[in-house]
Amino acid sequence: MNIDTSGLLAKWTRRVLYFGLIAGVPVVAVAALLNQLFFSLALAVPLLLAANAFALASVDQMRRRFDDVDRLRDEIRHFGSNNARIYRNDTDFYADVRGSVARARESVWVSYIRQFRENAPRAEFERHLEACFEWARSDSRHVFRRIMSNGTAAEPMTTGRLFGEQQLQYVAAAEAGGFNYLAKVLTWMPMHNTDSYSMILIDDEEFYFVLSGAEDEFWALHVNSRNLAAGPLRDRFNHLWHDAHSLRAHYEGRCECDV
Ligand SMILES: [Zn+2]
Ligand SMILES: [Zn+2]
Repeated sequence: MNIDTSGLLAKWTRRVLYFGLIAGVPVVAVAALLNQLFFSLALAVPLLLAANAFALASVDQMRRRFDDVDRLRDEIRHFGSNNARIYRNDTDFYADVRGSVARARESVWVSYIRQFRENAPRAEFERHLEACFEWARSDSRHVFRRIMSNGTAAEPMTTGRLFGEQQLQYVAAAEAGGFNYLAKVLTWMPMHNTDSYSMILIDDEEFYFVLSGAEDEFWALHVNSRNLAAGPLRDRFNHLWHDAHSLRAHYEGRCECDV
């Protein structure tokens, strides 16, 4: 198999630079302005120190993200083509995802978090949403969890409704019908620029990993690995799940989201 590691690295480097710019420039600008206004080093020095500490904390966070990717890449190297597959288009990707969901015995956990909102409805994506709902409804032992961002919640569907509204209807149907279909919203923050990947975890046995770049980029990976699915990716999902708020709270305005 052939993974475009240099492309992946370049993309992550861009994200780090981007975050450094948006976080660093205003802090330094404010410090410089204050310094000019008051000619006071007493004000500027603590500000610059604080900016520095913030930058160091961010770098540490970045490094952990890079470690995640390195670990993933190492793990993938050990797999033959039978255990891993790369997708460059969403048609093949969703076809395989539907197969995995249909075979799942206990849990399907999905995160759909991206920086860029899709403005056009996508038939493949909507078939995937229905398949997940049907899987959850077919057996009360099935547990389905979905995390979306406030941006993706606002994506339009072919019915004209928004993705988040449709998901809220699924959640309400599950509550009424006594099956497990849960959905939460993660408030988008600049820090998540480094986190804009989506995951699908199936039964702690296999996972899909989607990196979202610009609107026209698609890169996804499917790996059968208990080591990864039951380990770091499950932890990562649980962390996001904990940070997210309920879809109902989102639509009742009881959250920090702008939209
Ligand atoms: Zn967090
Ligand atoms: Zn919200």
